[in-house]
Amino acid sequence: MNCRIGIGYDIHRLAEGRKLFLGGVEIPYIKGLLGHSDADALLHAICDAMLGAAGSSDIGELFPNTDQKYQDISSLELLKIVGALLREKGFKIGNIDAVVIAQEPNLSPFKKLIQAKIAQTLNIGEQSVNIKAKTNEGLGEIGAKEAIACYSTVLLVREG
Ligand SMILES: [Zn+2]
Repeated sequence: MNCRIGIGYDIHRLAEGRKLFLGGVEIPYIKGLLGHSDADALLHAICDAMLGAAGSSDIGELFPNTDQKYQDISSLELLKIVGALLREKGFKIGNIDAVVIAQEPNLSPFKKLIQAKIAQTLNIGEQSVNIKAKTNEGLGEIGAKEAIACYSTVLLVREG
């Protein structure tokens, strides 16, 4: 069995007049993340970890923000494309782990929903996706509710 590991990181600014999407789930909050797509920092970090594990560049290269095609696109679509790309290369997802660092809002009530959404989009079991949420203890830009950051690791398995 051939295992490969990848790491992903993303951060987006919080801005008024935007909807907040994390892990493909709309979270009720007074601000949302700013970006070319829906700015779903969690899905971007997971996509980058998946691509990293496969040795296939990153989402910035795969989905350039200069391309109108990706304007306001749901990042679940990007995740689906990355999932298909890995399957083409003969990889299966072992597991996904991720941390969301957000001072606000409290994400605990949404964790199960987010895990289910990611698992469903990638066509894998929910037990293969783990999402954790932390505050930044009030420190720095994230603590000041100016941004949300996410980290992810992904293990890929290639059989044969
Ligand atoms: Zn991003």
